[in-house]
Amino acid sequence: MTAPYTHLVPSVRSLRPSATLAINERSNALKDEGREVFKLGLGQSPFPVPETVRASLERHAGEKDYLPVRGLPALRHAIKEWHHRRDGIDAMDRHVIVGPGSKELLFILQLVHDSRLTIPSPSWVSYAPQAQILEKDVDWVETQFDNGWNLTAEALENVCKQDPTQPRLLILNYPNNPTGMSYSADALSAIARVARAYRVVIISDEIYGEVDHGHGHTSMAEFYPEGTIVSSGLSKWCGAGGWRLGYCIFPDALKPLADAMAAVASETFTSVSAPIQYAAVEAFLDTPSIQQYLHNSRRILGALGNWIGQRLTQAGLRVHTPQGGFYIFPDFEPLRKKLAKRGVYTSAALTEVILDETGVACLPGVCFGRRADELTVRLSFVDFDGTRALQYLGSISSSKSLSQDDIQRLCPPTVTAIQRLAEWCEALV
Ligand code: PLP
Repeated sequence: MTAPYTHLVPSVRSLRPSATLAINERSNALKDEGREVFKLGLGQSPFPVPETVRASLERHAGEKDYLPVRGLPALRHAIKEWHHRRDGIDAMDRHVIVGPGSKELLFILQLVHDSRLTIPSPSWVSYAPQAQILEKDVDWVETQFDNGWNLTAEALENVCKQDPTQPRLLILNYPNNPTGMSYSADALSAIARVARAYRVVIISDEIYGEVDHGHGHTSMAEFYPEGTIVSSGLSKWCGAGGWRLGYCIFPDALKPLADAMAAVASETFTSVSAPIQYAAVEAFLDTPSIQQYLHNSRRILGALGNWIGQRLTQAGLRVHTPQGGFYIFPDFEPLRKKLAKRGVYTSAALTEVILDETGVACLPGVCFGRRADELTVRLSFVDFDGTRALQYLGSISSSKSLSQDDIQRLCPPTVTAIQRLAEWCEALV
């Protein structure tokens, strides 16, 4: 017998491509077969990169040199200023590290910090697999529907108490993927008290902070400045997921972590693409056109999220209306008996039957750390033409609240997808 060529390290043997990418591929395959598919699986911004930022990329296409590992100085400065203005974060340029998407930076942070990963359930799909690759232990902390699926200070303390001297890395994400929910200042302050008491390092993943629908985002760094690393990027608020630009802001107390990260970055990705970094400076200048773009993005997402929350509640689901971002996390538990008659007992089976019978692609709650037999799913309400929607808003008063008619006009096919899903729920016997 000949020896195999490949010898995978144990930690990646059971890894599969990220669930969000897999659903996208499956939806594309169904489309290729001629089926109508609504892509509510992948969490990609529906909006275009703002015109001024695109123009800046064109102007800088000739930039070809390697840039400093931690990022272009002008960009680090612009990011620091942006967060100072918006979140009151008191940082210096040297506290910012720029990377090729925040996903990569989160991975490197997990790599350099010798700790257990602590994450609420549900959480974004990639935190736990990253820990798995690194053979890090993960503590999932349970949350409840009634708390908006949010981590509570008590639940965090219960985990920390079990081993008070264990170094921990907590990743808190809000507005949240997959739930669409955010944290109040009181809730953040209570979590900060526990984190400080147990010296927990928090990565505050605030990548949806700019698309908080009510414009009420508050950074964790305000409550726990010495122990919080703020993580964000261009992907979600600037329509630029494919540009791959993310960053972290470190406090002085965590300088050794930042230095170790920069060392790993220098041996791996080296630096983010130069034209992208030069162009990104424009995005963080807070010009009136960027402010208008954000204002209108929030108006559309807020009105659409509201309508979806109402429609799914009417269809009998347990659901919170999202407070930010572009996700909603309905629980089909009230329909459990009817679904059982159809042989559906898990969130994975539920998303399959929904895709087959309505054409709506979405992700099962199990991908986000929920129990397999719970009937939660994540819907990304991004299947619409964001360029057209923003153009329309540009033609009406910026204070007019959007009606259901506006939403229907602006956001097909998402509206059609939600109607189909709601009617499917209503027709179950
Ligand atoms: N954090 C959350 C919660 C996300 O939803 C995503 C992307 O889906 C990321 C981080 C990573 O974003 P990027 O690597 O594009 O900066």
